[in-house]
Amino acid sequence: MSAPSTVTRFAPSPTGRLHLGHAFSALTAFEIARETGGRFLLRIEDIDRVRCKPEFEQAIYDDLAWLGLRWEEPVRRQSEHFEIYRKALGRLDKLELVYPCFCSRAEIAAEIAAAGAAPQGPDGPLYPGTCRHLSPAERERRRASGLPFALRLDTAAAADRAGRLRWTEQGRGEIEVDPALHGDVVIARKDIPTSYHLAVTVDDAIQGVTLVTRGEDLLPATHIHRLLQALLGFPVPAYRHHKLLTDAGGKRLAKRDGAESLASLRAQGADPAEIRARLGFSAAAPAVPTLA
Ligand code: GLU
Repeated sequence: MSAPSTVTRFAPSPTGRLHLGHAFSALTAFEIARETGGRFLLRIEDIDRVRCKPEFEQAIYDDLAWLGLRWEEPVRRQSEHFEIYRKALGRLDKLELVYPCFCSRAEIAAEIAAAGAAPQGPDGPLYPGTCRHLSPAERERRRASGLPFALRLDTAAAADRAGRLRWTEQGRGEIEVDPALHGDVVIARKDIPTSYHLAVTVDDAIQGVTLVTRGEDLLPATHIHRLLQALLGFPVPAYRHHKLLTDAGGKRLAKRDGAESLASLRAQGADPAEIRARLGFSAAAPAVPTLA
């Protein structure tokens, strides 16, 4: 039996124009698949119906094609799969590992301020667990009154159920999961039946991704993703969190700071081969077998 081939993916959110950091990330996944005779997938992470825009999605296709990347069709668009995320939530609910959270951001901030301090997670202070302590009757009363709610993972219960977990981080070895790192994280937002964490975990499993490559800013999120994989009985991919590209001042490239977009480089007549070479990849247009 031959070894299963590597399946990589690039999973951008269409909330702005791609910049060189995205190009590096996409090329990393693409080149690994190419070099290993594997498969490269593109996934559009558009669960946020307000911030995601069709013109940014189209620009992703245009920019990546210009860079010389090819991907399998059809592209998976997360906004078309809410039913699947709902199912996964149902499984976590059956295991009694999620609870409704009715708190607003302001209420959470006020509670943390009143407590004087809160443990810090990678994205700021951890949720103080207010709604975890609601009685079943109070939960029901609030639900029935139509109050919007998110679903949070009861992380301590989830960690008990999953036991000790690790993942393989290419270049670094095994990393032990710290389930408490993010506290009781939101697993479904108030407006949609999922969150980044749930959607990405479900999709990597459904799409058979065997190696997740992405920026090292997302390494902390892998603690949750690995926990969700264990709870949902999903296969476990390997991970490679790569360094983030920085500007001349050492600041990480970011859409929101107006990092120079691939579209503007393209408009200025930049050569994609040069961009690939500048990012450390082969300048030659990648040879990709076509189905034609
Ligand atoms: N959609 C995420 C982003 O654009 C990346 C998700 C991932 O690679 O896991 O930052």
